[in-house]
Amino acid sequence: MRHRKTARRVALFGVALAWLGAMPSPGSAQSAFLQGDRMPYDAFDKLAKTDLEVGGGAIHVAFAPGDVALPRQEILDWIGTSARAVSTYYGRFPVKSLKLLLVPVDGPRVRGGTTWGYRGAAIRVLLGRESSEDDLRQDWIMVHEMVHLALPDMAERYSWLSEGLAVYIEPIARVQAGDLAANDIWQAMVRDMPKGLPQPGDQGLDNTDSWGRKYWGGALFCLRADIGIRKATGNRLGLQDAMRGVLAAGGNHEVDWPIERILATADKAVGLDVLSRLHDEMGPRPVTPDLDALWHDLGITVRDGGIQFDDTAPLAAIRQAITR
Ligand SMILES: [Zn+2]
Repeated sequence: MRHRKTARRVALFGVALAWLGAMPSPGSAQSAFLQGDRMPYDAFDKLAKTDLEVGGGAIHVAFAPGDVALPRQEILDWIGTSARAVSTYYGRFPVKSLKLLLVPVDGPRVRGGTTWGYRGAAIRVLLGRESSEDDLRQDWIMVHEMVHLALPDMAERYSWLSEGLAVYIEPIARVQAGDLAANDIWQAMVRDMPKGLPQPGDQGLDNTDSWGRKYWGGALFCLRADIGIRKATGNRLGLQDAMRGVLAAGGNHEVDWPIERILATADKAVGLDVLSRLHDEMGPRPVTPDLDALWHDLGITVRDGGIQFDDTAPLAAIRQAITR
């Protein structure tokens, strides 16, 4: 996962590592669009744009210099599909206007993305020149970055919340939009959620700066929050309603909010305090939920390398509601 919500507070060496595989040679046409850990707003503004309207938002798409094998229209369709998935989840596109910069890099596939908000919402995505139509269909990075647009910027130590939301919501949004099967995402959750459990020496989500805790520890927080809200509301409301409440209160990526305000606003939208309490629990100390019991209660069984659903399990209705 080579992407980052915010660039301002990030250690430079991390970014350099992330881009080792994708960096053009110095002085090449794209380097101006990749240098440093910032959105090249000024360079972007000089490029020709194609505008897309999705979910009440305008996406201004620009390509940095360089050839890409796929026709432009297919790339624009992929952006539109991704934006519709995010708009499905949130009820609308998270920002009124987005600057979306595509930078061609060597190789196939989508190679990474970064989202900024400090001079207006912006996303930069590194697109492999040899990408196929199938690479774009399978890509999760574009939706992941667009989910970042729906959360205020925060102090770096809380990036587990922004990354966790992006990891958790991205596949759910794609299932809700009809782009992915529910089966696939539960299988991925069962496989990957253990990466988010605390390791020896862990000091809680707020104080542990590791990849696993940031991405999957954050996702585990979101799954537990979703289930907690659904349990408390008779499965009427979920994390989706809470996060829509943040957006409705003006909490998109163009503003800076303390984490307490984000969580309180989300809680208020569903009339509960599930998120704030879960942060009190998982923020300052390591918490290891019993994942096997959780999958069992949700009615998910791993069998022969695949998964099976048990619709008589105690939380089966909650599992179904999450992707509905
Ligand atoms: Zn991210």
